[in-house]
Amino acid sequence: MLIDPVEKAKEVEKVAVKNSERKYYRLVRPARFYGGIASSDCSGCNLRCVFCWSNDLAREGKIGNFYSPEQVLEALKKCAEKFNYSQLRLTGNEPTIGRKHLLKLLELIDQTNYSFILETNGILIGHDKSYAKDLSKFDCLHVRVSIKGTNEEEFNKLTLAKPESFQLQLNALKNLLDQGVPFHPAVMLSFSTKENYERFLGRIKEIDKSLEGEVEEEYVFLYPHVVKRLNKARIKPLITYSPNNLPSRLI
Ligand code: SF4
Repeated sequence: MLIDPVEKAKEVEKVAVKNSERKYYRLVRPARFYGGIASSDCSGCNLRCVFCWSNDLAREGKIGNFYSPEQVLEALKKCAEKFNYSQLRLTGNEPTIGRKHLLKLLELIDQTNYSFILETNGILIGHDKSYAKDLSKFDCLHVRVSIKGTNEEEFNKLTLAKPESFQLQLNALKNLLDQGVPFHPAVMLSFSTKENYERFLGRIKEIDKSLEGEVEEEYVFLYPHVVKRLNKARIKPLITYSPNNLPSRLI
């Protein structure tokens, strides 16, 4: 059965969120992306991407421990101080599940000098305009909306979700733009033809002309468990990279 990602988020939230606490399967780690960033890996996602590097139990929100926003910030700050980073992020799964937790964490980060990158699939922000409005209150924030494929058909093949939910990812761009939240779109291009990518650029230009020049290209990194997952889904990417040999533009 196809996933309804809005309903799936509610289902996962029941397992991965408790009041203002969110489940994390790895509380903190340093990461080389964005020039160096302290990263916390949350549990629970509302898509089931065939190229995902998070494991099945983590995506269901079934592994990890609950942490308060205060505890997460403390861990992120310690890591950032140790590695001299100025940026923090939540990653691993979908950080917009557990809105109360995320908003409280952002409120706390806004009282520091750190900046925060919200990596999201955008579904919940596209579904509910008030989410973008809530995010507009924070100076520390930049949102990276990671779009799964270039059209409805690719989205469905890659995420196992209803094709029409692809539009929610595009709606997220519009909602963030309307609320003045700093953001940029990223798009998974490993499975897309040049023609489909061009059509995609046409669609996001209709939201705002400037978006075309801001698109970050995303490609599959062939971690062993990602290769297994792709083989199981019998989907062959057109372009991939080895995690040990990433071009600097992708880091
Ligand atoms: S949205 Fe991200 S975390 Fe969720 S399944 Fe897709 S790749 Fe994995």
